[in-house]
Amino acid sequence: MPTRAYAAQSATSPLGPFSIERREPLAKDVDIEILYCGVCHTDIHFARNEWGFTTFPVVPGHEILGRVRRVGKDVTRFRVGDLAAVGCLVDSCRECSSCKAGLEQHCLKGSTFTYNGADVHSGGVTYGGYAEGIVCDEAYTLRVPGHLDPARSAPLLCAGITTYSPLRAWGAGPGKKVGVVGLGGLGHMGVKFAKAFGAETVLYTTSESKIADGKRLGADHVVISRDADAMAKHMGSLDLIVDTVSADHDINSLLGQLKLDGALVLVGAPPTPLALNVFGLLMPRRRIAGSLIGGIAETQEMLDFCGKHNVVCDIELIPIQKINEAYERMLKSDVKYRFVIDIASLKSR
Ligand code: NAP
Ligand code: ZN
Ligand code: ZN
Repeated sequence: MPTRAYAAQSATSPLGPFSIERREPLAKDVDIEILYCGVCHTDIHFARNEWGFTTFPVVPGHEILGRVRRVGKDVTRFRVGDLAAVGCLVDSCRECSSCKAGLEQHCLKGSTFTYNGADVHSGGVTYGGYAEGIVCDEAYTLRVPGHLDPARSAPLLCAGITTYSPLRAWGAGPGKKVGVVGLGGLGHMGVKFAKAFGAETVLYTTSESKIADGKRLGADHVVISRDADAMAKHMGSLDLIVDTVSADHDINSLLGQLKLDGALVLVGAPPTPLALNVFGLLMPRRRIAGSLIGGIAETQEMLDFCGKHNVVCDIELIPIQKINEAYERMLKSDVKYRFVIDIASLKSR
């Protein structure tokens, strides 16, 4: 079915109106009318082909929340009218060891990502949530607790799970001192989760203007990462740091903040390689790791946690016509703290 969307036609063109074709729902598919879609920095990396593997035109968007308007005949978990959400994944093989372990994002046969992924049903590539609707297998469709604000919940589907998962995997909790680097979409959720899990939480930011917000969002300490004296105060004292920075930056000074066996977990994905001074790893025995979103079951666990603890994102709601402006503001680290597109605006263009 023809579906209105917004796409980038090339790495240098702004996003603009575009029409895509969504498949008719198959037996296990849910057809969702999209209400809100969060704007992730990954969308910018793809729209501008910064990682070098974008297929154009690209319709970004993987923080998708909407209402079910049709269901396939074998769908059991959703009914017409339910709230439903789609994150970064729409399919995977379901049989490999990763899929069986609930790590569909690491499917050995290749996960199908929500946009710019190989579309096994329609051919070509998948198109994301900057669109009025999406069709997704119910096994990859998430439930959002009904009492949470839907616009403020949409970014949980990527910014939420991408920070929740490493904080859980590396045991953020009481008695642990945990850092989050960068107060953007991912970072502000990292701070909220680290605090909610009971860890002593340190925010590292380059923006002096974000100190008060960092504390309001839950950080016990806010450190300006370019201030050597402020960094010296926490040297060698953290168990874990989750680094959400989207551009080149100094990871060696961050490594210096970790104690013995502490881990720096990179979730930000700068397009260019980061410089590593190995001595920061050797002394005293530190680790660097990475983490990619989270599996479907863990994403549902995160949403349920948010429902129980009333955790949602801090957002700026925009019409889709402002998307190019929003990208420019994100590149200046100027967003409080996630843009969310009101998809109703697509119909009024
Ligand atoms: P964002 O909202 O733009 O936030 C990034 C933050 O990083 C900025 O707000 C800024 O925070 C800091 N920053 C930016 N440039 C910097 C620089 N040159 N030096 C130091 N700090 C800088 O981006 P996002 O949506 O949170 O995404 C962040 C990164 O994570 C992107 O690369 C994205 O592709 C990646 N990502 C990865 C996964 C995954 O599964 N691993 C999932 C989603 C996104 P301050 O102003 O506080 O310094
Ligand atoms: Zn994302
Ligand atoms: Zn698999």
